[in-house]
Amino acid sequence: MPLKVWMDGKLVDKSDAKVSVYDHGLLYGDGIFEGIRIYHGRIFEPDAHLQRLFDSAKSIRLTIPFTADQLRTGIEETAKANNFTDCYVRLVVTRGVGYLGLNPNKCSTPSAFIITDTIEMYPKEVYEKGMAVITASVIRNHPNAMSSRVKSLNYLNSILAKIEAIDAGVPEAIMLNHLGNVAECTADNIFIVREGEVLTPAVTEGILEGVTRQVILKLCKNLNIPCNEKTLQRHDLYIAQECFLTGTGAEVVPVTKIDGRPVGSGQVGSLTRRLIDAFRRYIREGA
Ligand code: PMP
Repeated sequence: MPLKVWMDGKLVDKSDAKVSVYDHGLLYGDGIFEGIRIYHGRIFEPDAHLQRLFDSAKSIRLTIPFTADQLRTGIEETAKANNFTDCYVRLVVTRGVGYLGLNPNKCSTPSAFIITDTIEMYPKEVYEKGMAVITASVIRNHPNAMSSRVKSLNYLNSILAKIEAIDAGVPEAIMLNHLGNVAECTADNIFIVREGEVLTPAVTEGILEGVTRQVILKLCKNLNIPCNEKTLQRHDLYIAQECFLTGTGAEVVPVTKIDGRPVGSGQVGSLTRRLIDAFRRYIREGA
C-alpha cells in the first residue's frame, strides 16, 4: 500500500504529494515546519510542537489556514492511514504559490502538509558507545538576522555546518553563535555536565527552543539533578565531564569526543545514562 501524505486536509498517495515550483516555500525557504514523534500511538508533546509552529508562523507573519486541533487530527489520521504507531512526523506550512518575486502578499494561501515516516538520525551504536562531533567554523545565524527560534524552511546555516561535520568524518557539528558562545548543533540542542551539574545554553544564545531540551530540563528537575542554562564557550566543551545532544529525531545521544578530544573519560557519562533512561521511561509512561 503506498504511503499516504496529508495535503491541505486530504490524504493522497506519496506519488501525488507534490508542491508547485512557484511555492515560496521552495523558491525562498519561506515557510515553517515541525519534526514530531509518535510513540505507542501517541503524539509526543503535541502542545509544545503546535505552540512552536504557531509561534514560528506569527514571527514570519504567516497565517496557518488550519487550527492546532485540525493539524493534530491530521497528524493522527495520517499515522493511522499508514498503520504507524511509532513514527516520525514532518508537519510543514509553506507561504503557498506565488510569483517570481519576494512579496508574500502575492501568494495565494499557505499550504500545509504532513508526512509520517520512519527516521534514523544516527547509527544505533552511538546511543551505547557515544558519538564524536566537531565544532563548526560556520557560526549560527545572528538572532537579529533570522531568529533560530523560528523553525523555518531555510536550513542552509545548519547544512553548511553539517557539511563540515561530514568532511571531518563525524555525524554532527556544534555551532557557536556570533559572540563565540556555544549555541547548538545543526539539528540538536546541546548539554554538558560539569561537577554534577547539567548545563545548556539559554534560548538567548540564538538556538531553537527544542521540545526535547525542554523535556530534559523537566526530567532533571524531577530527578533532583542540578540543571542550569548557562553561557558556554568552546573551553567549557573541552573541560566538560559529559556531553549529550537532544532532538526529536536524535532523542538523547551521548557525545564522547569533541574536536578529536575525549569528553571526560571518553565513555558515556553516568548522568547522561540516567537521563537517557529517564527519557525512555517518559516516552513509555509519560511521566
Ligand atoms: N536545534 C535545531 C537547529 C533543530 O533543527 C532541532 C530539531 N531537529 C533541535 C534543535 C531540537 O529540537 P526538538 O527537540 O524540538 O526536536
